[in-house]
Amino acid sequence: MGMIIQGATGDWEVVIGLEIHAQVTSNSKLFSGSDTTYGAEPNTQVSFVDAAMPGMLPVINEMAVEQAVRTGLGLNAQINKFSVFDRKNYFYADLPQGYQISQFLQPVVGEGKITIDLKDEESREIGITRLHLEQDAGKSLHDQHPSQTFVDLNRSGVALMEIVSEPDMRSPEEAAAYVKKIRSIVRYLGTCDGNMDEGSMRADVNVSVRHPGDELGTRCEMKNINSVRFMQQAIVYEANRQVDILEAGGSVDQETRLYDPVKGETRSMRSKEEAHDYRYFPDPDLLPLEFDDAFIEKIRATLPELPDQKKSRFVSELGLSPYDAGVLVAEKEVADYFELVAEGRDAKLAANWVIGELFGNLNRTGKNLADSPVSASGLGALIDLISDGTISNRIAKEVFEEMFDTGKAAGDIVEEKGLKQVSDTGAIEAAIDAVISANPDKVAEYRGGKDKLFGFFMGQVMKATQGKANPGVVTQILKPKLDI
Ligand code: ADP
Ligand code: MG
Repeated sequence: MGMIIQGATGDWEVVIGLEIHAQVTSNSKLFSGSDTTYGAEPNTQVSFVDAAMPGMLPVINEMAVEQAVRTGLGLNAQINKFSVFDRKNYFYADLPQGYQISQFLQPVVGEGKITIDLKDEESREIGITRLHLEQDAGKSLHDQHPSQTFVDLNRSGVALMEIVSEPDMRSPEEAAAYVKKIRSIVRYLGTCDGNMDEGSMRADVNVSVRHPGDELGTRCEMKNINSVRFMQQAIVYEANRQVDILEAGGSVDQETRLYDPVKGETRSMRSKEEAHDYRYFPDPDLLPLEFDDAFIEKIRATLPELPDQKKSRFVSELGLSPYDAGVLVAEKEVADYFELVAEGRDAKLAANWVIGELFGNLNRTGKNLADSPVSASGLGALIDLISDGTISNRIAKEVFEEMFDTGKAAGDIVEEKGLKQVSDTGAIEAAIDAVISANPDKVAEYRGGKDKLFGFFMGQVMKATQGKANPGVVTQILKPKLDI
């Protein structure tokens, strides 16, 4: 499902590679014990190490290392038993050390791959080049004072995993599916909360174009994009900009560009000539990381069932369609909720209720699953009432809406409103006889061969019983009466 741009010189294919920065879920920073809570007052989570006071030494946070390994395993990637922290040197006001501790030639995680899910049950594999650990920088605040810039060092030293992809994506949709899949995987793993609004996940987006079959073209990189929608817009804009340049006989400069979501365009930040020479070298204050097999296997043993595995299980064991299974596993909370509803019940029915009525009502009210007024056991109880014939599917939808709006239990609503399905054959037969005698012309047409009219009679009987007649019982009695 690649994106193709048609030009005078032929079709252009878009090539995309992403570098995702994912903040490691951990109570402390990568090399200090400072807190990492989001939204704290500026400069309240800063140790002497984070402020780079003279003589301070970094101490590795073992939890952050385990999280990187766990993520690597979740990305089906090679875990490097020997890796090295390097200093990446540059000068910036919000980087008090004058360098960022990162990993360059020997990252903790090497090549891997993930599957992205596209429309129409199509899927593709995207290569992971590497994952390395690094510190975040502080934040320059330009909007606090008319002529001064302030610096907040709360983020200084926060542990990040940089996940680099191969240039394997061919459209904005594929890039979006990739980001969503990475987010889903790290959330399942508990290694990053994936919260793009809070900056816990952000992407550098590399884009180039080429005629299909040609070598890779020169790329531009758009930094720090923190929304999937903006990323897709930026890719479309940037690909078209590059095609226009190339079609006019020009060449694309390799540069870093900034996407402006307000104007919907990218503009140059710095060109390759101005690119930093980071003068990487191994950080002399830190030992290389060395793992033995036992360390890696201990982490592997704690991996949860990941979205792809869960999806296969939902298809093979519960009989769900691949589409429904994909929808249910994307967010771990949804999958957990669904499994509670489905436990001991008809899984397809449970899936329909979660995807149809529950999602519909959450959308209608702008709520998240976490604030759903209907719990998994509450929905389960409603489904039980359908399965044991107490209420019809149609009535159940009304009951669900009321459960959602009032928080009441299904059984109570059915009781209060007298919604119990009628299976009493006497009452149903009376309704059927009334419908038959009120519609002699339709009865004649039916008997004359117009089978489709059976639905009409069903509808009339259901209407006459306010939707409470058991449809199975109605069919059983109605059919022989019409077929005389
Ligand atoms: P750097 O370290 O300068 O950022 P890398 O070679 O590590 O450069 O690539 C960074 C990202 O750019 C990777 O995600 C990679 O997939 C992507 N990339 C590399 N070449 C291209 C290209 N020609 N078009 C699109 N993306 C590319
Ligand atoms: Mg880069």
